[in-house]
Amino acid sequence: MVSVCIIDGYVDEPTCLGVPPYISPYPRYIAGSIWSAKRDVDVYYITIDEIRKGVEKTRLLSKSDVVVVVAGMVVPGRYLAGFPASPRELMSFLGDFERPLRILCGPAAKHGFGLSGGKKTFSEGLKDFFDLVVTGDPEVVLKQLVLERFDASAVDPTEVRGSAHEIREFAIRGASVVEQHPNFPDYIIAEIETYRGCPRAVVGGCSFCSEPLKGLPDFRPIEDIVDEVASLYKAGVRHFRLGNQPCVFSYMSEGVGELEFPKPNPDALEKLFSGIRAVTPGIKTLHIDNANPGVITRYPEECRSIAKSIIRYHTPGDVAAFGIESIDPEVIKRNNLKVGFDDAVEAVRLINEVGRGRGYNGLPELLPGLNLVFGLKGESKKTFEYDYDFLKRLFDEDLLVRRINLRQVMPLPGTRMYEVGERLVKKHKVFFKRFKRLVRENIDRPMLRRVVPVGTVLRDVYTELYRGNTTFARQIGSYPLLVGVPGRFSLGRFMDVKVVDHGYRSLTAVPYPLPVNSVPRETLEALPGVGKKRALRILQGRPFSSEQEVLSVLDDPLLGEKLLEFGVSLD
Ligand code: SF4
Repeated sequence: MVSVCIIDGYVDEPTCLGVPPYISPYPRYIAGSIWSAKRDVDVYYITIDEIRKGVEKTRLLSKSDVVVVVAGMVVPGRYLAGFPASPRELMSFLGDFERPLRILCGPAAKHGFGLSGGKKTFSEGLKDFFDLVVTGDPEVVLKQLVLERFDASAVDPTEVRGSAHEIREFAIRGASVVEQHPNFPDYIIAEIETYRGCPRAVVGGCSFCSEPLKGLPDFRPIEDIVDEVASLYKAGVRHFRLGNQPCVFSYMSEGVGELEFPKPNPDALEKLFSGIRAVTPGIKTLHIDNANPGVITRYPEECRSIAKSIIRYHTPGDVAAFGIESIDPEVIKRNNLKVGFDDAVEAVRLINEVGRGRGYNGLPELLPGLNLVFGLKGESKKTFEYDYDFLKRLFDEDLLVRRINLRQVMPLPGTRMYEVGERLVKKHKVFFKRFKRLVRENIDRPMLRRVVPVGTVLRDVYTELYRGNTTFARQIGSYPLLVGVPGRFSLGRFMDVKVVDHGYRSLTAVPYPLPVNSVPRETLEALPGVGKKRALRILQGRPFSSEQEVLSVLDDPLLGEKLLEFGVSLD
């Protein structure tokens, strides 16, 4: 029997995320396409982290006939657990195996491997090392490869799907491959595609973006998406994000191909979200990702209605990530961007108006996130002032923003930034660094205090790793906030926490309710007003059998009352 091993080297694209806990559609579609072509092919799935750890599963590779690598980071990201595969580590690892046919898919095959912001992608030697570098759609090419009995010379690696509906079968059949993910079943979130391609391709799109290279949007039918989600749910997935598209508000919009900003379709979004909820009764996360602020300000009524539909069916803590990119009029003009100052503020206001109410998991229902890109054409010292004024205005207006992502452009082949991006990033490196520091200190931290005040209870954060004596945890979803819990708590479990302090982009929190008889010293010291000496007194007074006993070891009754607000548990 033929066996194929999919190595997930993780993808991070402007419109698709596949770094754990996310699993992108790529490996799912690929598995589905192989099984569609030939039922009895063994398909194994392994992540680059499992390879790095040398887990037992890695031995499957030596038995495989074909190895399909999915990889490529083309937006620079920061990762907590799981880092995208580098070309060198892949080549060094796969170089040990003579037998399997080597295939490279994903953004790395199309654009090369992104290394970091401000640097061109790397593609040297890939064509020699891999038997097939798939620049078309992997699921289409892989199906053909199976039909051609794994003869790489008989397939066209540039072949693409004829329509969005064509992937229906692959998406549904391939859902079960998620069961092989090391995070399955609890800590995995499936990235779902609703369409690809950007409506703004009619005017050339933004200078730095690769999405217009995919052409105009071809929307997946509602039924196809719902049926795919149902298959994933049946396989055991409980967390989903409709993140694989440039603007969720533009799904099924009217006027694609004619209008730069087609008219949103609230009915379609209502049907899509309600359809998903109907087939996932025990769903735990349903989030979105990108939204075009230019669409929101041009069609406020439709977008308000869509935002309400999203909130009706999603789970709280959701983020509509706005690609603002720059507020400088010169940069907007030279890079064909979407919104200026007033429109951007208006879009942030609209999402705040509908989404800022707090949900059951402790976070506001739906907030905007902002993406700003640096190193674009026309950028000058003034650009940083424009952008700062914009962020300050949002803050001064008491608006909420969940995340401000400041990144340097990654010049991708085929985009208008390819030849000039590196130079521009280098030129303004010092301005960028200073700007970033200012934003982190003056906007990010106070904004975080506003979004998640001290005392907020965050439900179901998942403990992922230790750094020193701190346990780091996150909720599952779009742009989860990083939570540092002082002390070492068991990893790989969900817990509720109460916020005690804020970093620039992270929170400090303690378990809620607080198991006062067992928490480590570091946790006690992090409680507001407790500190080292009082923590020691608490430690010496343990075990407590009543709240009164806890109060009695503290010298300050007010502080004691405050401590009880942390929901002390005596277990
Ligand atoms: S609007 Fe611009 S950034 Fe967004 S997908 Fe289209 S081209 Fe890319």
